[in-house]
Amino acid sequence: MHNLKKETDVKIPLQPQETSVEEKDEVKTDSEAQESDCCKALREKTNTLSVQMSELSIKIDDLQLHNKPEHIEAALYNFSRELDNQLASLKAIQNLQSEEFQQKILEKDEMRLQLLDNLKKQEQSHLQEMEQLKVQLEAKDKQCLELEQQIENYKNNNDINSACPICFEPWNSSTNHRLASLRCGHLFGDSCLRNCLQRLAECPQCRCTASSHDIRYLYGRPL
Ligand SMILES: [Zn+2]
Ligand SMILES: [Zn+2]
Ligand SMILES: [Zn+2]
Repeated sequence: MHNLKKETDVKIPLQPQETSVEEKDEVKTDSEAQESDCCKALREKTNTLSVQMSELSIKIDDLQLHNKPEHIEAALYNFSRELDNQLASLKAIQNLQSEEFQQKILEKDEMRLQLLDNLKKQEQSHLQEMEQLKVQLEAKDKQCLELEQQIENYKNNNDINSACPICFEPWNSSTNHRLASLRCGHLFGDSCLRNCLQRLAECPQCRCTASSHDIRYLYGRPL
């Protein structure tokens, strides 16, 4: 019996095949960390079965060495084969699930990239729109400025046309500063024009000869 125990101790390290499977697992990408619980459970089962198998094969070896009843050997051999098959199918399932998981990650990555691409395109079109709006706004500003200038000009013209060139006050119809013209066609406030003509008999604008007899009142203009 001492001999048997010693041999078992020596053989206990895992079989080379087992080691290579574990190394392969470690090489996998970060995505493994996100693997489903189902996958983890399967791998744990697989590992447990691997350990059980190696222990059983050690026991089989021991039995073959020291105790060789043919029926026990056959039964253990069959049991070992069955475990082999189970392990193989579990590994196949695990690989399949792992592949599906990788596929899903790839699809998610693809979707994410597409989404980012779409967002980038949207941003670009928004920037373009903003640029166009800016140009339009500048054009509108310019138009506005021109209109303001026109209004200003119109106002000035109106002031000139509606104010007496002697006193610069607007004429009106109710006081003695009513709208009055001379034969030359120049317009003044009546009182201002009369004062000027008393001192000098000429039009204050064009200096053509004029007297108070030439003064005509104008009614057509809304005042
Ligand atoms: Zn006047
Ligand atoms: Zn005149
Ligand atoms: Zn008349």
